[in-house]
Amino acid sequence: MPDIWDFLRTPRQEWPLRPVPERVRDWREVHAPGRSLPIVQDQASRCMDCGIPFCHHACPLGNLIPEWNGLVARADWREAAERLHATNNFPEFTGFLCPAPCESGCVLGIDDAPVTIKAVEAAIASRAWEEDWVRPQVPERLSGKSVGVIGSGPAGLACAQQLTRAGHTVVVYERDDRVGGLLRYGIPEFKMDKDYLNRRLDQLAAEGTVFRTGMDVGGELDAGTLLRRHDAVVVAVGATAARELPVSGRELAGVHQAMEYLTQANRVQEGDYDRPAISAEGHHVVIIGGGDTGADCLGTALRQGAASVVQLDIKPQPGVQRADDEPWPVHARVHRMSPAHQEGQELVRDGAVLAGDSSGLPPQDALRDVRVFSAATVRFQGDAAGRVRSLSLADAETGTRRPLPGTERTIPVDLVLLALGFSGPENPEHGLAEQLGLRATATGAFARDARYAGGRPGVFVAGDAGRGQSLVVWAVAEGRAAAACVDAYLSPTGVSALPVPVVPRDRPMGL
Ligand SMILES: Cc1cc2nc3c(=O)[nH]c(=O)nc-3n(C[C@H](O)[C@H](O)[C@H](O)COP(=O)(O)OP(=O)(O)OC[C@H]3O[C@@H](n4cnc5c(N)ncnc54)[C@H](O)[C@@H]3O)c2cc1C
Ligand code: SF4
Repeated sequence: MPDIWDFLRTPRQEWPLRPVPERVRDWREVHAPGRSLPIVQDQASRCMDCGIPFCHHACPLGNLIPEWNGLVARADWREAAERLHATNNFPEFTGFLCPAPCESGCVLGIDDAPVTIKAVEAAIASRAWEEDWVRPQVPERLSGKSVGVIGSGPAGLACAQQLTRAGHTVVVYERDDRVGGLLRYGIPEFKMDKDYLNRRLDQLAAEGTVFRTGMDVGGELDAGTLLRRHDAVVVAVGATAARELPVSGRELAGVHQAMEYLTQANRVQEGDYDRPAISAEGHHVVIIGGGDTGADCLGTALRQGAASVVQLDIKPQPGVQRADDEPWPVHARVHRMSPAHQEGQELVRDGAVLAGDSSGLPPQDALRDVRVFSAATVRFQGDAAGRVRSLSLADAETGTRRPLPGTERTIPVDLVLLALGFSGPENPEHGLAEQLGLRATATGAFARDARYAGGRPGVFVAGDAGRGQSLVVWAVAEGRAAAACVDAYLSPTGVSALPVPVVPRDRPMGL
């Protein structure tokens, strides 16, 4: 039995990762398989079951964290899996991919290391699959109503699963040749095994959700057809319109958007081809952009055998401690080391990969990892064949982010990956918006009201399409919430028993 004082006796222990030299030679998950299970019960027992669990409020899904921590600490894995699935359709997605704002809100984190909530979540989900507790939940009766969901990322999938289980007939229309959205073609295999996605898709299909791939709604397939075919339509098309870098030389061969590169690398893992057309193998690679997408490019480039890798971040390096304006329980911007950054650091230290060329960057031994902060890209230079050969960068002025005069230097490069974030749903001129009467907000996302309704009657907007590029946990939470609003819209009483974990105006916990 857990003891309420366990947090004083048991230190935080991280989920072990596979050794860097081993894991960069394959595409399998970075976590050591099954290694979390021996430690996770002790880790769960560090939970203090606080009066006000800020972890629960920090989680957009409202996951019942203290409840399942307590159940795991008592080795009641089956009940823990029940409680976890009560609020989260896909806990293995979040357990492996979420940046865990819950851990930033953990009360123990005020003066000690927070509970390893994310690892506990992943361990419960893994155990539930291993024990065959995850079964299709086929609705007892059908409502006679049908819903078309456009887009099969985590928002579309969560929405479809909730609505199918509520008895509606749901068809998911996906533009790509495979289902999964960014879980399929954005996020690399080493962060989450695609089998986790595939087995969930099997579960959804067994429950009755129908998938139609190769359907560009608003393009080849008129969205008006969907309005006539279904009683409601949910737009969950994501926000993958990539931001550009308008500098001289952008048009040179070898300068690519990150998603072009990551999609190809993911397609190799899917078996579509042996070698991607864009590969980092043997190349000097510069990744521009310091976020998740940039880190995914880094891990991919290292696995493809890049000769050198540098990641430029225009923002200054954050501190290792919270800034005063980001106190507990806010998910603060602090210097984090993702597994890909850890790989870069170790390979550079061991001389297996160069961190760029020392001519224009800090000396190798001064680089804590392959990231260079406060770095503004000024221009690219190419050779006679029109291929990128070098990049000029300068220190970025704090605040304005403009290049500081007198700090410019040039580094060699033959592959540039732009990972500058996303501005909203792709291609506003695409027929989808016009055919469904959708309007763009000032940030470029699709506008919706407090009940996720946007555009023509019966049209709803969920996930990144309405929120802007965000996180898997928000996408799942929005998918669940939008499903409740659709269910209420279709119900003769106008009410739904489905949960609404978030409303469109909700934002991460902050000041
Ligand atoms: C490289 C990368 C790495 C990331 N890593 C993480 C991470 O580690 N952790 C995390 O929490 N979040 C991460 N994110 C963010 C996360 O993936 C997204 O927030 C999440 O996938 C959004 O889900 P969604 O369902 O709204 O949209 P998406 O996942 O973008 O899915 C939208 C789907 O709609 C389809 N579609 C678009 N237009 C049409 C159309 N007209 N007709 C039919 N279908 C259409 C698309 O093909 C796509 O399949 C990452 C994002 C990127 C780009
Ligand atoms: S989904 Fe994310 S925020 Fe919620 S409990 Fe899991 S790791 Fe924490």
